[in-house]
Amino acid sequence: MDGNSLIDFGSGIAVTTVGNSAPALVQAVQDQLASFTHTCFMVTPYDGYVRVAEALNRITPGDHPKRTALFNSGAEAVENAVKIARAYTGKQAVVAFDHAYHGRTNLTMAMTAKNHPYKSGFGPFAGEVYRAPMSYPFRDQGIDGPAAARRAIEVIEKQVGSENLAAVVIEPIQGEGGFVVPADGFLPALAAWCRDHDVVFVADEVQTGFARTGDLFACEHEGVVPDLIVTAKGIAGGLPLSAVTGRAEIMDAPHVGGLGGTYGGNPLACAAALAVIEMIETDGLVDRARAIGDLMAERLRKTQAADERIGDVRGRGAMLAVELVVPGTTEPDADLTRRVATAAHAKGLIVLTCGTFGNVLRFLPPLSIPDHLLIEGLDLLDTVLEESR
Ligand SMILES: *Cc1c(COP(=O)(O)O)cnc(C)c1O
Repeated sequence: MDGNSLIDFGSGIAVTTVGNSAPALVQAVQDQLASFTHTCFMVTPYDGYVRVAEALNRITPGDHPKRTALFNSGAEAVENAVKIARAYTGKQAVVAFDHAYHGRTNLTMAMTAKNHPYKSGFGPFAGEVYRAPMSYPFRDQGIDGPAAARRAIEVIEKQVGSENLAAVVIEPIQGEGGFVVPADGFLPALAAWCRDHDVVFVADEVQTGFARTGDLFACEHEGVVPDLIVTAKGIAGGLPLSAVTGRAEIMDAPHVGGLGGTYGGNPLACAAALAVIEMIETDGLVDRARAIGDLMAERLRKTQAADERIGDVRGRGAMLAVELVVPGTTEPDADLTRRVATAAHAKGLIVLTCGTFGNVLRFLPPLSIPDHLLIEGLDLLDTVLEESR
């Protein structure tokens, strides 16, 4: 509107992975728009929905028989994953983690950890949701992944009991909670415990999915195969779509008609998702995410070496963050974080903040970003950090 231009390190919160108007996606959606916009899949099924389901069954971790159901938003898909896990296990409790973010509906608010701005004043929240400690290497010095998993499992066993527990729901790398990457061994140990105790292990890959972390899905990094995987955000290039994909026997547990919705798996969104999945595969976007990550991480670590306000540089692939602290401590500096994000925006760089303590700058560039814009954005970030001393 004002002739300004901005370098995008946010992708509309990890959504426009293939860019803002990738020609193949625009064409696919235009073709679908000219054909039909809606039938309601439960009334008149259509090919696009089935093809998206087949594609997700193919590309998600694990080679067991799978099923997929489509919904509109990440939160709606998380809710459905919980419904499916309850129907399958005949149990009710759900465990989420410190710093977790799963959405803003009533059940997902209960699962989300942070009070302000997500929950304050919006209760009462859904019952049977319990919280376990996360592995947060920067703030858990010395506790490795297996030990952090034992700590979480002890809380779950003592406070919930596997005989009452339907599902453990976890983001393999936490998004809104601060791009917290759990220590190696944490996720595999939790998944193994779930398997041994008839508990459905649900990976919320709404933010981490679709090549973002340099794997197609972040679980793959440690070879973890979730029972159910929840996807949204990057799935359809900005059209509203989400999915639950998982083991056929678990997905088949709810009665016919028990899951659904008027718009879930909308034809335009499905056309977009098929274009996104094809672009990820043919344009090598998993490798591109790794290359972006390597370039950015090297620059950010160099900046960190000369700036003791940067307590931690973390993330994987094109999902990276810096945690800003009072120099020489781990005390969060949320004020600095806000100032840097605002100043970056004024200079033409979109960066997002996150974290339980509000002190994390996160970077989620579209995987279509050329190197010269990536480098220009990192230069701007250095300038802004320098000017905010
Ligand atoms: C954004 C997000 C959600 C919620 O998705 P919506 O589409 O906003 O409802 C759930 N889980 C994670 C990890 C997210 O990042």
